[in-house]
Amino acid sequence: MAPSDLPVTGHLVAGELIDGTGGDAVAVHDPSNGAVIGYAGLGDDALVARAVAAARAAQPGWAATPLRERMAYLDAWRGKLAAAADSLTELVIDEMGLLPAFARNVHVGRAVACLERLEELAEAVLAPRREGISLIVREPAGLVAAITAWNFPLHMLVSKISSAVALGNTVVLKPSEVKPLAAWAATRLLAELDLPPGVVSVVGGTGPAVGAALVAHPDVDMISFTGSRAVGRRILAATAATITRSVLELGGKNPALLLPDAPLDTALPAVLGSCFFNNGQVCGAQSRLIVPRALLGEVEDRLVGLVADTAAGPPRAAGTRLGPVVSAVQRDRVAGYIRAGVDSGLRLLAGGPGAPDGLPDGSADGYYIRPTVFSDVPPDHQLAQEEIFGPVLTVHACDDVDEMVAVANGTRYGLTASVWSADLDRSVAVARRLQAGQVVVNGGGFNLSAPYGGVKESGNGREHGREGLAELTEVKSMQLPA
Ligand code: NAD
Repeated sequence: MAPSDLPVTGHLVAGELIDGTGGDAVAVHDPSNGAVIGYAGLGDDALVARAVAAARAAQPGWAATPLRERMAYLDAWRGKLAAAADSLTELVIDEMGLLPAFARNVHVGRAVACLERLEELAEAVLAPRREGISLIVREPAGLVAAITAWNFPLHMLVSKISSAVALGNTVVLKPSEVKPLAAWAATRLLAELDLPPGVVSVVGGTGPAVGAALVAHPDVDMISFTGSRAVGRRILAATAATITRSVLELGGKNPALLLPDAPLDTALPAVLGSCFFNNGQVCGAQSRLIVPRALLGEVEDRLVGLVADTAAGPPRAAGTRLGPVVSAVQRDRVAGYIRAGVDSGLRLLAGGPGAPDGLPDGSADGYYIRPTVFSDVPPDHQLAQEEIFGPVLTVHACDDVDEMVAVANGTRYGLTASVWSADLDRSVAVARRLQAGQVVVNGGGFNLSAPYGGVKESGNGREHGREGLAELTEVKSMQLPA
């Protein structure tokens, strides 16, 4: 297609869809072959100001609208997203390089599913309660500025918008400019709902321009941010002037602990599945495997076999188990870590530098990484401390459970973890010792209604579940006559 025929994402401001311009600056690439498939339309300070003014004006009326009526709009959005599942899935595959079943079940599936229990949870959060002479109520935070990362662009947009507006907030969201196509399709479906103008605005653009303008705007009441630790720190610095509250969902360097009686048959595929989830690009990836020294040899043998079955290739090709990473920048970053691991003498168990073998014709310009495992890695090594955001696992051997817990807790991050043993109580006891916001115990699944977020430098606050929704409100206590 000629560049002029490619889609440019736009904006939704004050109820009006606005065509995107200036998109050439941020091209969207198909990760499987490097081709340009669209452009991110770039907003500016003036568009942010219009969106914020519209959100401010709409907020009192929206907060006074009953929850059921607010939910009726969101239920309609859910229906439209579900009906568009096929085309949304194709967009996710094209821009993210994800396997079709994963794109459908996880990216589109979660975007729809996050709307399903929302009313019930919002009702619970908004229910007033008595505490002695006091009546305690939760009220909408007001105007929420939301900023999303590129790794789950569709689900993050739907989840941040719907959580905030269900509780009576108005929202101005800046989607990731790196992967904006599916998010824009969902925005256009939202625009069909006839929401009161200004309740939801979406302004595309880059972080340093639109993101920073939104964060610094004095009329914003709170910020809901998902992205890197580096930008999270910038947001905290920028909001010092206005004391704007923020919920920050940042990075992770998450440990998986195999206790001595862990079931290796189930634990190892699950840990690798977590590390390679979303082609290795997920904040909650279990990317450090911590094992008893006595099991190291057996774990290594099994990992070699499992990684050999993880063929990297184009997402729609038969036999592919792992797609590419999302961009050339990301490929070079991840490859740099793998090279650094090799150069510093780490023991390479599987994968390594260079493109995977057996890529089909037409893939030479894709962003492929070989799924890679380094073993017996010193816990303070760069590869065991920094978030790589690619399909790279480090394995660490420990002499006892105390050492395993110390290694698990020994990074600046604290987002997720997993613990494996034959005994649930034992795993729960170890899970209680871990510095993490969410722990998968003995292979438990993902729960969209459970609070999600990190401790330490993985962020502040929570998303999802009652606790996550409560973050989007302010508490008021009223002292009544006894
Ligand atoms: P990023 O921090 O580079 O960008 C995130 C968003 O912030 C983008 O929309 C970007 O345009 C915007 N931004 C950039 N500079 C800004 C500024 N100065 N002011 C305001 N906004 C700005 O992150 P990314 O590369 O898109 O995503 C990957 C990161 O996100 C990883 O660290 C990952 O762990 C993290 N993440 C965390 C969670 C979680 O729930 N904890 C979930 C997904 C991703």
